Amino acid sequence: MEFCPKCGMRLILTPKGKGGSKLVLKCPNCGYEVRSKKTSPVIAKRMEKPPTESVVVIGEKEAKIKTLPTVKVECPACGNMEAYVWLVQTRGTDESSTQFFRCTKCGFTWREYS
Ligand SMILES: [Zn+2]
Ligand SMILES: [Zn+2]
Repeated sequence: MEFCPKCGMRLILTPKGKGGSKLVLKCPNCGYEVRSKKTSPVIAKRMEKPPTESVVVIGEKEAKIKTLPTVKVECPACGNMEAYVWLVQTRGTDESSTQFFRCTKCGFTWREYS
């Protein structure tokens, strides 16, 4: 617990900044502000990992791919006729999303050139 050095009132922990990412200790009486040493609950939540992640060896990327839809398309590497499909948004440009394929058999990944 911290107190205002100006008027002695108890400082209130107040979120500040974008999405409350920063925490300040604010005096409700005179408006005195000091940055809190405590981490914002928003940031703490982001850093927190789900407990299952340390147990499961499968990476996040692979786990996501498992849930991807498949399409009938020929793999340029092995000729398999099934591949996972997903879209990747190109950031920072006006380009539309690019379609990616990943062979269900050999794991070869390629993008669609239209
Ligand atoms: Zn004060
Ligand atoms: Zn393949």
